Amino acid sequence: MKVLLPDGAGYKANLHAHTTQSDGHCTPQQVKDYYRAHGYSILAYTDHLFMCDRTALNDENFVALNGYENCLHDGGAANADKAYHINFYSPSPDAVGMVGVSERFYDFFNKVLREKSAEELALSPILNGFCNPEHSVANANEIIAEANKLGYLAVYNHPVWSCHEPKDYLGLKGLLGMEIVNYASYREGAEPDDMGIIYDHMLKDGQKLYCFANDDVHRCIESDSLGGFNVMYPDKLDYQSVFECMKKGAFYASTGARLRGIAVDGNKVYVGAENARSVRLSTDGRFAKLVTGSPSAETVFELNEHVKYFRVTVEDFDGKKAFSRAYFSEEFK
Ligand SMILES: [Zn+2]
Ligand SMILES: [Zn+2]
Repeated sequence: MKVLLPDGAGYKANLHAHTTQSDGHCTPQQVKDYYRAHGYSILAYTDHLFMCDRTALNDENFVALNGYENCLHDGGAANADKAYHINFYSPSPDAVGMVGVSERFYDFFNKVLREKSAEELALSPILNGFCNPEHSVANANEIIAEANKLGYLAVYNHPVWSCHEPKDYLGLKGLLGMEIVNYASYREGAEPDDMGIIYDHMLKDGQKLYCFANDDVHRCIESDSLGGFNVMYPDKLDYQSVFECMKKGAFYASTGARLRGIAVDGNKVYVGAENARSVRLSTDGRFAKLVTGSPSAETVFELNEHVKYFRVTVEDFDGKKAFSRAYFSEEFK
């Protein structure tokens, strides 16, 4: 028996958050306090084109990860302007240099929307100058590659809000993951509550990536928070362990439903879930299975020998979902 996902409480994490240092309404401390009050232990600060060290906020019950949200827009029609928004997460508290920074958006977020002092700007240095601002797969790949060289993890955000078509996300390289849920965009109506189809397109494209459910919180109010989170299983609650946990995919994504472990034994997959109305195993092909009604606490699936990846989606009786990441044949065979 090989355990792919442990059964345990884990730590609740929102890995996409904005503060007053870009277009958010709350200070970094206020965002922390809000999430702590709601049972979260991990929060990634991902302001638009601003990343400084937040780890002064860390304590024995809380880890802040340093990140920023990168943007490349195509400058098209106002209601259909295509955009790559990619979150980059820094591998260590003291690595805060940004790459892939578009001058236009840097100026907008740091000089127009917020007039930051020279001292404040110095907290978030730009490495290698401003980037080519072109909205294209090739340019996004160059920027992701530059970030990966620094050990940064890259996550592709809200594909539907971004007005992306398959040609915009097929061929991306070097991503750690994509947002299967972006809760704020869902509540605005700009994004479905389950981007599993896009996740599958990217996986079938050969991209070995994970899926995340994030709030993309800007205001810490009911309509933009506490609706997309990840349950993470780091060895310890510190920066390095949380970063490693993210990197190796020891987590699942959720809008409120609970996954209670995934294990494989030969061609059998064991999925634990709570209060489930349905448990679905989907794969790279037509081979898939949906168990509905009131699946028992543990659902057993048998894998077809040709399966290259599988992933699990649980829906509970409150209509909330939990999404495993994709598990690839080299991990379960
Ligand atoms: Zn965004
Ligand atoms: Zn965002």
